[in-house]
Amino acid sequence: MTNQNPDCLFCKIIAGEIPSKKIYENDEVYAFADIQPIAPVHYLFVTKTHICCAKKINTENSQSVAKIFEAIAEVAEKENIDSYRVITNCGEDAGQSVMHLHFHMVAGKKMGWGEQSLG
Ligand code: AMP
Ligand code: ZN
Repeated sequence: MTNQNPDCLFCKIIAGEIPSKKIYENDEVYAFADIQPIAPVHYLFVTKTHICCAKKINTENSQSVAKIFEAIAEVAEKENIDSYRVITNCGEDAGQSVMHLHFHMVAGKKMGWGEQSLG
């Protein structure tokens, strides 16, 4: 069962109303290439259900989050991506610009640690 928000960019992408470069899809997860990649590999994994952000993860919907991590592992294996980083930004100060829960999968370059390291 999915819950969509008609005003949400990622809900529109999931519905196919806005084009995206699909990487992966199952009943609960959709993954596509980030339009402004910060590394050679930069995919976004989103729950098909509209959840605004990590703050709203709860016992009812956390299974979708588990499915995202399963999907990430599957894509990594399929694409031979041995080392990668998974990020979710929650809230404005953390840099969240689209209010639909998503996980960045970033790979293909050496990454440091710290607030500037992914810019
Ligand atoms: P965040 O800033 O963590 O909310 O991440 C939102 C991400 O969505 C950014 O990395 C954007 O580059 C990406 N993005 C925005 N619009 C699109 C789009 N139409 N297709 C693919 N990625 C997008
Ligand atoms: Zn949405």
